[in-house]
Amino acid sequence: MKLYSTKNHDLSVDLETAVFNSLPADKGLYMPTILPQIDKILMENWDKKTLPEIAFDIAYTLLKDDISAEDLKAIVDEAANFEAPLYPLQDDTFVLELFHGPSLAFKDFGGRFMSRMMAHFLKKEQKEIQILVATSGDTGGAVALGFLNVPGIKVTILYPKGKVSLIQELQLTTNGNNIEAIAIDGTFDDCQALVKRAFHDEDLNAKLNLTSANSINISRLIPQMFYYANTYAKLKNDFEDLVFVTPSGNFGNIAAGMIAYKMGLPVKKFIAATNSNDIVPQYLESGVYNARPSVQTLANAMDVGDPSNFVRILDMFNNDIEKLKEMLSACAYNDEQIKEAILEVHKAKNYVVCPHTATGYLAVKDLKENTAVTEKTAYIILATAHPCKFPDVFEELGIKYEEPEQVAELYKKDKHQVEMNNSFEDFKAFLMK
Ligand SMILES: *Cc1c(COP(=O)(O)O)cnc(C)c1O
Repeated sequence: MKLYSTKNHDLSVDLETAVFNSLPADKGLYMPTILPQIDKILMENWDKKTLPEIAFDIAYTLLKDDISAEDLKAIVDEAANFEAPLYPLQDDTFVLELFHGPSLAFKDFGGRFMSRMMAHFLKKEQKEIQILVATSGDTGGAVALGFLNVPGIKVTILYPKGKVSLIQELQLTTNGNNIEAIAIDGTFDDCQALVKRAFHDEDLNAKLNLTSANSINISRLIPQMFYYANTYAKLKNDFEDLVFVTPSGNFGNIAAGMIAYKMGLPVKKFIAATNSNDIVPQYLESGVYNARPSVQTLANAMDVGDPSNFVRILDMFNNDIEKLKEMLSACAYNDEQIKEAILEVHKAKNYVVCPHTATGYLAVKDLKENTAVTEKTAYIILATAHPCKFPDVFEELGIKYEEPEQVAELYKKDKHQVEMNNSFEDFKAFLMK
């Protein structure tokens, strides 16, 4: 596979370069030059296959020139080693539970696949790398647990002290081994600024092979196609059309689904559900893309004011907004609506959705009220995280949920974190030692 930059279609780099650079120098995003079509007969037989088997079919279609079938199978089997079940909410509406991995969020697919892919290339070169990542909560856990004990890679995670939930903090701080957590006395933006400065620091770059693990890395997107395809496999015999509803922040998750569609996965429509950070819904309505500072919401993993992966979606549609609107629509919901949705689902089904997933529920409800519903269409809401990662709202609403077994394990472990103010000199000294 060769990749170009969304800002320069003449650029051509190989997979390894794209994985370790994350971003091209022109600050566009890497996209595959060719999106190969998934074999139709292969897809017809997917109803007899497991998630890792379907994952392999997709990964191999895309990466067969880069990684041997045997190595790719090992990477995929390790990355997709947990379930992505469908919970039937209504006859035609399903919740795709993406929170059964180690950090209890969909980002585990990306974190686990990226780490194994990097380890694969590093083994060849006998290199060691140091990953730096800033997190507001969810990315860090997926990266920490995804890279835990992966050879050749050290990970340093910065998070804003006191501003992540208890379970998120435990996921960052109880690992030890090759994972180090730093609690910064400051905001997420402070954490991100420290990481950005480190990447530009000469001394640090001379001493360490610094690499980022952020959500725009192509190796985090590829595995996010797997569960869209696995859902198609499960529903294709009962429904003709699939509508996927993806709670969106940086638009990586939905971009992955749309890449799968461009590779031939039969999908009728994608719907992006956002919180009050409604940049994309507004863009689709007005044609004007107005990035602005994010506002804080209950669905805080989607508090993004300039969704970085959206350019990938535009690129796939040659920046033709009318064509794009045939495949993608978007809607936004505020905190009050999110709370009502959580209560409504709980009352109807005794089922608990996280605040992000709640926006997806609302989008399906609106869609069904406003368009002709046929029996042939299935609506799939991607459940991006387990509710226990966002406990505050459930306390307020008086809703209880069962904590998954991963959480009981976390409580037993010791926390290790370094505390730091937001001075770059201190952070640099820490990395240099
Ligand atoms: C990261 C995240 C999102 C947003 O996903 P994007 O790929 O950035 O659109 C939604 N929900 C949860 C729980 C997340 O952690």
